[in-house]
Amino acid sequence: MLAIRQALLTAIVLIPALAACSGPLNSDDGAAIDETPPTATVASTPSATAEAPLAESTSASPTATSDTTPLPTLTPTRAEVTTATALPATATPASQAATAAPTPTQASEPQQAPVDATPWLPDGRPEDQHVELPDLDLHYALHISELSVTTGFVQASQTVTIREFRDYVPDRLYFQVPAAGYGFFTLESLTLNGAPVEPAWLNGGATMVLDLPNTADSRVTVPVEIGINFQLNVGGPEPEGWGYLAVDADVLRLGYWFPQISDDHSFSLTLDPSYTRVADFDVTLDLAPALEFSHSGEVTGSEQLPDGRIRYYLHGENIRDFDFAFSPSYVFASTVSATGVTIEYAWRGGASPDVSAQVLATTAEAVDRLSALLGPYPWPTLRVADAGPSMPGGIEYGNHIWINPLYPQLDRLIYHEVAHMWLYGIIGTRTLEEGWVDEGGAEFFERGLATDFTEVAPVVSGGYCCPLDARWEELPQTGNGTYFAIYEQGQRFYMDVLATMGWDDFWAALQQIYNDFALDIVTAYDMLRTWQAHSATDLRPLFDSYFRYPWIADLPPPGVDSRQGWLSLP
Ligand SMILES: [Zn+2]
Repeated sequence: MLAIRQALLTAIVLIPALAACSGPLNSDDGAAIDETPPTATVASTPSATAEAPLAESTSASPTATSDTTPLPTLTPTRAEVTTATALPATATPASQAATAAPTPTQASEPQQAPVDATPWLPDGRPEDQHVELPDLDLHYALHISELSVTTGFVQASQTVTIREFRDYVPDRLYFQVPAAGYGFFTLESLTLNGAPVEPAWLNGGATMVLDLPNTADSRVTVPVEIGINFQLNVGGPEPEGWGYLAVDADVLRLGYWFPQISDDHSFSLTLDPSYTRVADFDVTLDLAPALEFSHSGEVTGSEQLPDGRIRYYLHGENIRDFDFAFSPSYVFASTVSATGVTIEYAWRGGASPDVSAQVLATTAEAVDRLSALLGPYPWPTLRVADAGPSMPGGIEYGNHIWINPLYPQLDRLIYHEVAHMWLYGIIGTRTLEEGWVDEGGAEFFERGLATDFTEVAPVVSGGYCCPLDARWEELPQTGNGTYFAIYEQGQRFYMDVLATMGWDDFWAALQQIYNDFALDIVTAYDMLRTWQAHSATDLRPLFDSYFRYPWIADLPPPGVDSRQGWLSLP
């Protein structure tokens, strides 16, 4: 996500109200299980204060940068890039990306072909770098049977199907329920393979725990089906205005609105509270005829119900969540990018300015340039939603981003959120553990696409509150400290790595990351190790200047890639 800096400064005066709302959740470190299920409580709506920063911003005129940077010419067809299983094989070769790089004066040395066709098995990760999330073949069937944009009421059911345990069978499943973190979630029923079960709750109710029968007498076998019925009573945005779930003017935002399999993590207000594997989704919505929506996945059909409402069928594959923004005032504009990705913008006709031409052009430009630099965008569409007047910036979801069209540097906001389609969406990251990977990365691409990778965030006066590897619990939960320490310091680190490695080696490493971790999850160790493997210069002194990781000294020498017990030169 990305916020208006001034909005964050303004929000500092609202700390007491915010702390009152979030205190119980953040003060619970999850050590003890709370058996009390969350109940719905509707938060107050501080809309008047949240709009103030945006009113100031309207005087700023966003500067289009698309004409300063030629779009790359790419060869992947839409058919190729939409075949998710072919992701690693269709990754843009390094030589192609070098052609598309926006600094043509830098010499492009020919890249050697990959020497190893064997999949990366990152079993050499240090202890603090193990991915705790179970690797599952996962399907979510979701149904919204009642929904009101006015009141924020949602009646929903879901069936979670585990089709395969790819690495191990866990004894318990942790469901993240950020909706409960906001106090908007009420569980009505929970079943495991059709039998009613009682969950436990962690992290102040933001984590639902379900035990799996996994003893010698009772082994769990696939498919595992978990049925969940629940209600949401969504209130207004919290004082800082993010409102992953919020009624904001005539927009109902539903982000992270249903329980999803995750790990045991708390609910954070500063870094995005979601951490999930990719999954497949089938979603049905029963909506009043006049209600429009922007969404993850694709609409595959619709029919009229006997009561006059419309039932929409949606499907999404290999995405990490499935979110919506609903509004009766949405109007739509769309285009197709040079690489064949459909871009759609839903904006509040009559209620927000028509910047659709700018939004579509900048989004398409970002998708095409990032595809060239990193690897193809794998989904057929990218949707952009005007998320309402209180949204202080933008938020990324599964092939869907939210923006506030009044953001003063709209192109930069879009660059940032589109970059998250790669760092978070395609290449999964552990943002709460190591936010620098995705938020520092998105800031790197935000500034990089806007300035041809020349701008470096200045060091904030007084220095950073925290080292770059700070986990979310170490970071300030209010104010600008987290933004400076993770986003801006992270951008500086990416730029330092780029300057030290040189243009071609740097992008070859990130394309390697794409090849190895697309639709999977990357860790800080994987990032640093891959950069080092593609570098002619030893990066360990640079890494040591930013990070406390104890394993930096143990990384292989520069230019050496150790995989599965044997060494090769990249
Ligand atoms: Zn972000």
